[in-house]
Amino acid sequence: MGKRDRTAGKPEHRPLIMDKREMIRWLKEEREPELARLWEKADEARQRHVGDKVHLRGLIEISNICRRQCHYCGLRADNRGLRRYRMTAEEIMACVAQAVDYRYGTVVMQAGEDERLKAEAIAGLIRKIQRETPLSVTLSLGERSEAELRLWREAGADRYLLRFKTSNRQLYGQIHPSLPGKALDRLAILRHLADMGYETGSGVMIGIPGQTYEDLAEDILLIQGTRPGHDRRRPLHSPPWDTPGKGERGTGGALGGTGADHGVNDLQSHRP
Ligand code: SF4
Repeated sequence: MGKRDRTAGKPEHRPLIMDKREMIRWLKEEREPELARLWEKADEARQRHVGDKVHLRGLIEISNICRRQCHYCGLRADNRGLRRYRMTAEEIMACVAQAVDYRYGTVVMQAGEDERLKAEAIAGLIRKIQRETPLSVTLSLGERSEAELRLWREAGADRYLLRFKTSNRQLYGQIHPSLPGKALDRLAILRHLADMGYETGSGVMIGIPGQTYEDLAEDILLIQGTRPGHDRRRPLHSPPWDTPGKGERGTGGALGGTGADHGVNDLQSHRP
């Protein structure tokens, strides 16, 4: 359905070369010469899998309205100190035109969980982008229904980004409260997305209060099991926002975020 064959030339996934105990040892490692060895190995893997090309994507934050209450996020519904907006179709298409001018390969439409972003309207935009431009379309619109995700895939969306944040269910519940009566499993959604033919992007948060090195090793193992096209590891920094998690510290960071969890300002690796 996408405009480019993304499977062609992809490297085979290699078998696990570290067990969990070894991962934890490396996560705790602080000696510079040992870390230099690790960076070197990481750079070799990066070179082998993605080479030296940098793939630019045009990220369009189409709405900053969200119904959720994630503890670290400035877009959470209860944050009254934020000016909210939702872009019109014309505004979005103007950004798309700019992405074409910049010769980007992909646009990402991203938003909080904004119920007034109607599924059919998003599908219409996807079709228009696919029809009128050479761009691929990535979506990052939160936990949406299976029918909506399927509609967007059929309209031509290529990728979907949804971070599972942590493999530890208890920590997950602490930072990402469910909507009343609507407990959704992001890992199950990621599996459905893959079944629908999306290339998925996911990842974790590092620095959640109470998070342990063992949790981080479990996260890595889970990423390896789900094999997303993108893998995002987001270090949490103290935000300017007034959020419940502001200033809290965990392993490797402080709780807080800058935008949508399906977000903008995080580190990520990407297989083209
Ligand atoms: S992290 Fe995502 S779902 Fe949670 S409040 Fe922020 S935008 Fe909404």
